Amino acid sequence: MAQISLKNVSKIYKGDVKAVDKVNIGIENKEFLVLVGPSGCGKSTTLRMIAGLEEISEGTIWIGDNVVNDVPSKDRNIAMVFQNYALYPHMTVAENMSFGLRLRKYPKHEIERRVNEATEILGIKKLINRRPRQLSGGERQRVALGRAIVRKPMAFLFDEPLSNLDAKMRVQMRTEIHKLRLRLQTTFVYVTHDQTEALTLGDRIAVMKDGRVQQISDPMTIYDKPANKFVASFIGTPPINLMEGRIIKKERKYYFDEGKFQVRLVEEMHNVVAPYDGKPITFGIRSEDVYDKLFVSQASPDTTVRAVCEVVEPLGSEVYLYLNSGKNVFIARVGAHNRPEVNRDMDLVFDMSKVHFFDPDTEKTII
Ligand code: ADP
Repeated sequence: MAQISLKNVSKIYKGDVKAVDKVNIGIENKEFLVLVGPSGCGKSTTLRMIAGLEEISEGTIWIGDNVVNDVPSKDRNIAMVFQNYALYPHMTVAENMSFGLRLRKYPKHEIERRVNEATEILGIKKLINRRPRQLSGGERQRVALGRAIVRKPMAFLFDEPLSNLDAKMRVQMRTEIHKLRLRLQTTFVYVTHDQTEALTLGDRIAVMKDGRVQQISDPMTIYDKPANKFVASFIGTPPINLMEGRIIKKERKYYFDEGKFQVRLVEEMHNVVAPYDGKPITFGIRSEDVYDKLFVSQASPDTTVRAVCEVVEPLGSEVYLYLNSGKNVFIARVGAHNRPEVNRDMDLVFDMSKVHFFDPDTEKTII
């Protein structure tokens, strides 16, 4: 059993650098938790404190039922997998994988059994006599995973394990990590700056910025109900379209006034935006919620926006349209059949039931 819990954990580096600021995270036994955020937000430091590779400045970390603040890394019964694989170049695959067990004086037959099992799980049986330089990036990463698996740890900690791989291999390894997780039934904490990796792998995602956790939730909640403007813009590709404007009221209906266009809000949102009547607000709409009017059967003029289509970017199964309202540039992600002419006005329909509003001062989500 390895639930991991961080209570008010901070890390202050020399020179008063607050890398992690009062982080509270509870990771359940067998849960796959992803720490995601831009470079420098404190996710590696958080992971390294769980691993015992970095001292904690404030707060408490539990692994299982034990407070581990003062427990050395080697006694925490967790395995870490790094971005750079950290394999010993002079050892074979089998030697690399068994190194930790040999240090801990495991019996030879047990070491062999575990290495065999791990190479089978990872599909690297043929490679056991090679040295790291004779392996591809993906194979090296599998060996690094194997070295972690043979230890049968209470939890796996992954620090950007796929960052050094090319795009295709990253996608492949992502699926393998998913399968591995199902098979191993252990707790995983996984650090990445890649929001796609976070969305696809995590049972829950903790989004970090400036050393603080902004939101922890399951992937769909993070995507559909972001806690603030930062989470909304960090999660999702292409990023959510954000526009500054005002809420206005006409004949008991509320509109978002962008400057060049106005769109009517759905009734369910009226109560929540009422306090912003006449005031500035930040509007957000995801690119998949913007449609080419030609393909919408019953478009209301109140939710239709005119813009110039500046670029059409075909991506095979879909097309990105880069649009300009005269004040804001925004993106529509539409079906592959949409091929509007470039540098012409076109009409777009906003799905107003899906839009978000953020407070322009606090950046917190209003809707
Ligand atoms: P991330 O993994 O999200 O990219 P890190 O946890 O590595 O971020 O770093 C968080 C912050 O702490 C950054 O501002 C970084 O420069 C700083 N930092 C990391 N390691 C050290 C260190 N050993 N000494 C001083 N500052 C550090």
